[in-house]
Amino acid sequence: MLPAQVQNPVQVAPNDAALMRLALAQADLAQAQGEVPVGAIVVKNGQVLGVGFNQNLHRHDPGAHAEIVALRRAARRMGNHRLDGCELFVTLEPCAMCCGAMLHARLQRVVFGAPDPKTGAAGSVLNLFEFEQLNHQTQVQGGVLAAECAQGLQNFFRARRNQQRTDKKMLHPLRDDALRTPDAAFDGLTAYPWAAHYLSHLPALGGLRMHYLDQGSQSAAMPAGQGQTTYLCLHGNPSWSYIYRKMIPVFLASGARVVAPDLPGFGKSDKPKKDSVHRFTWHRQVLLELVEKLELENIVLVVQDWGGLLGLTLPMAAPQRYKALVVMNTTLATGEAPLSPGFIAWRDMCAKNPQFDIARLFGRGNPQMSPAECAAYMAPFPDAGYRAGTRAFPALVPEFADSEGAEVSRQAASFWRDDWRGQTLMAIGEQDPVLGLPVMTALKNTIRNCPEPMVLPLAGHFVQEHGEPVAHAAVLMMSKATAA
Ligand SMILES: [Zn+2]
Repeated sequence: MLPAQVQNPVQVAPNDAALMRLALAQADLAQAQGEVPVGAIVVKNGQVLGVGFNQNLHRHDPGAHAEIVALRRAARRMGNHRLDGCELFVTLEPCAMCCGAMLHARLQRVVFGAPDPKTGAAGSVLNLFEFEQLNHQTQVQGGVLAAECAQGLQNFFRARRNQQRTDKKMLHPLRDDALRTPDAAFDGLTAYPWAAHYLSHLPALGGLRMHYLDQGSQSAAMPAGQGQTTYLCLHGNPSWSYIYRKMIPVFLASGARVVAPDLPGFGKSDKPKKDSVHRFTWHRQVLLELVEKLELENIVLVVQDWGGLLGLTLPMAAPQRYKALVVMNTTLATGEAPLSPGFIAWRDMCAKNPQFDIARLFGRGNPQMSPAECAAYMAPFPDAGYRAGTRAFPALVPEFADSEGAEVSRQAASFWRDDWRGQTLMAIGEQDPVLGLPVMTALKNTIRNCPEPMVLPLAGHFVQEHGEPVAHAAVLMMSKATAA
């Protein structure tokens, strides 16, 4: 990153050294926040007008370099975007962006500490200040307290390399071909207080870290034959376990256990970088292995959207584990009937606009949701790199008889029609143009002993956002089943 030794120490005016120490103090603040430790100050006639340190990570801002932060503060203080007569001190040679901003600000003088041989634009890689077409006023001096400034950066990068080595040895190391949403993205979510659980040792995960909620477990105390009910809640695209936050408290209040995983590529689970990793068979296998690994029994399978496309194919693999089904807007895509026009329209929209605004999608169909709740659905995806799952899923819905997943969905349809012995609660969000009444009516006819559905006239596709009465109905169904 930086040369081990800085050549040609320069003669430094005592006042410059003192001001550079103030910039170094700013760099320390950056380091304390895990940012690359660069600090800057803007001074005029010995008075500090603005200070700044790198905040790229915390502000999600490629422009939040120390110099820019300090320049903005000084300009606000001056009430002027021209900083005539000002000097800027920065611990590292500025990049092209920052040099550009300094030229626009018409600084009188720029003083930096360590040179930056990779991106320095004040002499190392290029020198923007020497172009007479660009610059008429700004003097540049480098190398002030260069050794001290370089030392801080070297220490930082050495510590970061050590941390990466430690991370590799930790419980759930991050695969090179995947991304992990920083924990901070999930800070302070509305009505989602539950602890994160992780596993990465399912064969199908191949080391990807999968997140799941696991609340209310008391299996150790349960006498045999009276096992605790477990609500297994499966989300769809583009949501995550957050979508069950209104139903989970109702399930827990009934004394049940709740397990709600985030599919790979969603929520707090790791996100493969490549769209092509997402396959119907793979996701189904992950869920099958999850049920076995957690040894879930007395399962009430709660599904919606992809949670159903995948989840409805699970019970036939281990029917003894399941005792009830709560099914909301979803389908079994067997490839026998054409996909609904509503779904085709959704798939086309996703193909044309793969980075569609997820928060807006939720807000549009759910005026009762707060902006913070809508934003929580975007939290797993800091940028487009994290969105392979949301990009891939619409095209994975089995369309033809020989599509991946169609055959297993046909087997599942046969299981629900002929072999299902459990209770069923069907709840339909009536406003859903994709998987609403017509699609759900067809599904009802596929499920043995499915009672009349609970129709929610205000609910759309994301039924769980109106899920409290559905959860209460499910609890009632289970208490009747136990009493019977
Ligand atoms: Zn910069």
